[in-house]
Amino acid sequence: MVKELQLRVTLKEEEYDNILITKSAQALDIDKEDITGVKVLRKSIDARKPKIIINYKVAVYIREVLPKTSDYKFDYKDVSKAKPVHIIGFGPAGMYAALRCIELGFKPIVLERGKNVKDRRRDLKAINQDHFVNEDSNYCFGEGGAGTYSDGKLYTRSLKRGDVRRIFENLVFHGATDQILVDAHPHIGTNKLPKVVQNIRETILKHGGEIYFETRVTDFTIKNNKIQAIQLQNGEEMTANRVILATGHSARDIFYLLHKKEIALEAKSFAMGVRVEHPQHIIDSIQYHCSGPRHELLPAASYSLVQQVNERGVYSFCMCPGGFIVPAATANGEVVVNGMSPSKRNNLYANSGIVVEIDVNRDLPKYEQFGPLKGLEYQKNLERMAFTAGGRSQVAPAQRLTDFVEGRLSVDLNPSSYQPGLNSAPLHSLLPKFLGSRLRKGFSAFGQKMKGYYTHEANVVGVESRTSSPVCIPRNDDLEHPQIKGLYPCGEGGGYAGGIVSAAMDGERCAEAAIKGL
Ligand SMILES: Cc1cc2nc3c(=O)[nH]c(=O)nc-3n(C[C@H](O)[C@H](O)[C@H](O)COP(=O)(O)OP(=O)(O)OC[C@H]3O[C@@H](n4cnc5c(N)ncnc54)[C@H](O)[C@@H]3O)c2cc1C
Repeated sequence: MVKELQLRVTLKEEEYDNILITKSAQALDIDKEDITGVKVLRKSIDARKPKIIINYKVAVYIREVLPKTSDYKFDYKDVSKAKPVHIIGFGPAGMYAALRCIELGFKPIVLERGKNVKDRRRDLKAINQDHFVNEDSNYCFGEGGAGTYSDGKLYTRSLKRGDVRRIFENLVFHGATDQILVDAHPHIGTNKLPKVVQNIRETILKHGGEIYFETRVTDFTIKNNKIQAIQLQNGEEMTANRVILATGHSARDIFYLLHKKEIALEAKSFAMGVRVEHPQHIIDSIQYHCSGPRHELLPAASYSLVQQVNERGVYSFCMCPGGFIVPAATANGEVVVNGMSPSKRNNLYANSGIVVEIDVNRDLPKYEQFGPLKGLEYQKNLERMAFTAGGRSQVAPAQRLTDFVEGRLSVDLNPSSYQPGLNSAPLHSLLPKFLGSRLRKGFSAFGQKMKGYYTHEANVVGVESRTSSPVCIPRNDDLEHPQIKGLYPCGEGGGYAGGIVSAAMDGERCAEAAIKGL
């Protein structure tokens, strides 16, 4: 017999061996010996009150064999001689499009401008230490896409758009911890992601798919509004009639190319702002109501904040407890910050994007001349401003939080996890008023919501500009571009995803659409 239960466990109880069995036996009024095992279905922490509770949803197996954690099967076929589907980009969308093609009996041919995960590391080191951005291999470009050297948070709001559980199970199948199947806020960590990505690559190759790294796509041959071939930077051409375009939100050259070829694009609303960094212990003490270090069984605390300011949302984005701020630019001459954390989230700092919604139809009147690329040009200008204010390297402009809000230059800055370094700059006056004034009001409101958040011990760092795509590549109900037959815009770059899981789910859907009638 299997019974599902909700259990509430205090931190003190959590320290005892077999506490879930003990509590289950009590709740069901049975002997502990009758319980063969307890499977955790969901785990979350309730820290709203000083007495912190861990909530478990469990399945209790009574005189019955406990099954394996994961019972999903992935039926990968030998596709070495199957019909091809070309996939541009090997981020989460491209990877999951390729895996789905293999399940459906089609051969994915993946073209990725960046390097494999191992070689990519050298280019990350060059950004952090030499301030040199390799425009094909960086925190956004390369095997695994922007998802590889990220936090690996697997939160998604797009529950209706596919089978989230399938993606989680597949990540576990490829080496992620099965903890992600039960945590309320699952996360993999940047130290674990490269191995998962590498395992996905191996599955694709083993079943006859092809992956070409350091292979940038530069053009498409289109005849009678139908895709015919893909042009590569090395001068080669590949015949292709089904192309999944999963190049991510930072592939500006692809947006420019499509625009030049008069392929329909649309401006898309997005969000931009800064990244704020606090010492982790400050966030822990606010969230866990403690004055000293947090309890050893508790993870580094996170937060989620939102405030409406002058008709636009100001909100926290991609919060990384125990993490690092990283330089996420994809070209020299720009500074872009983002965040990531290792699986243990044990770094000394908590960082988060704090961004303002931008309605492209109302907020960018000076950029109208750029048509569908107006958001992209606005984003670019902000990143160039940050480059100049930082001192024309990957050093980022920064200000103490209180100085930013109160409008004065910081005499000095707090220590930071951002490796290239920070330069004190008047971000309060450098950011466009539209963003700057809303951010300042937003931070003041956040200080009211979380006592201790508004502190001179935090830095704001510029600029958090790549939250989502500022451009949408339209598609019809068959997920095909309405103008170009055989072209399937996919993932975050097309405007159809906003994170690792939603990009992966969209990759699967595009694969299913692309093989129809092939
Ligand atoms: C530092 C950082 C931390 C993040 N943290 C999280 C997180 O914790 N959780 C989360 O859900 N999301 C996170 N994100 C966002 C997440 O990584 C993206 O939403 C996701 O990767 C989008 O997937 P995608 O496949 O659509 O595009 P991408 O991951 O951007 O992949 C696109 C791929 O296409 C390739 N490409 C581009 N142009 C070409 C071309 N012309 N020819 C060939 N290849 C090309 C690129 O090299 C890239 O590998 C983070 C992003 C960054 C940068």
